[in-house]
Amino acid sequence: MKNMRPIEWNERIRFECCGCGACCRNVHQSVPLESLDVYRLTKFLKEGDSAITCVEDVLATYAEEVLLATCGYVTYVLKTTGDEQACIFLKDNRCMIQPVKPKACRTYPLSAEPLGSGGFRFHISTEYPHHFEAGIIFKARDWMKRYFTEEERAATAIDYRELPEIVRLLNQVPEDGLPAAVFCFLQYKYYKFDLERPFLEQYESNHKELLSALRKILERLCY
Ligand code: SF4
Ligand code: SF4
Repeated sequence: MKNMRPIEWNERIRFECCGCGACCRNVHQSVPLESLDVYRLTKFLKEGDSAITCVEDVLATYAEEVLLATCGYVTYVLKTTGDEQACIFLKDNRCMIQPVKPKACRTYPLSAEPLGSGGFRFHISTEYPHHFEAGIIFKARDWMKRYFTEEERAATAIDYRELPEIVRLLNQVPEDGLPAAVFCFLQYKYYKFDLERPFLEQYESNHKELLSALRKILERLCY
């Protein structure tokens, strides 16, 4: 998202989407897939595509890795296609995964930045001025309440609670241990989910297992 400005929770905004698809183009490496996005997307795609059976299939087909920090902190983003670098799920200006599109797409043009206190600071993208000339009127808080679900808020809280320790441990891993550390990181962040079980309890326990696995790697290589 470009041209971001902070927005108060009770600020009133007018917004209209005419379905031009512009926000789904020129999005190379910029549509993040959070763990819950991938979990939902996999469940959705499995229903209609026999080639998709698991998280591995979804990530291999529709996502690419991006290294966020040299310590090995990796995330996934949606692939893009063509000269316009359009999202891989954009067809005829329509999103093909509308019911399960990633959080970043659902909350657009708003985004939520977690605060240490457990709350969030909201921002709005003003890159397309035509958005604000007509349409529904909403308050930032109500928009985010609708599109940033309780489950996502809880997952974000886990992320922010565990992130400092994960990064601290990754930073200590020597170079020859990085492939194993990144493998563990991706396993517990994205892959090790039973799609028949609720997401949050698995996300919580995966973080504990990730921290334990990183400590074991460090013990093996450094002590
Ligand atoms: S949100 Fe805006 S840029 Fe995106 S499709 Fe709607 S009108 Fe176009
Ligand atoms: S997932 Fe859908 S809404 Fe999000 S960028 Fe892709 S086509 Fe657009």
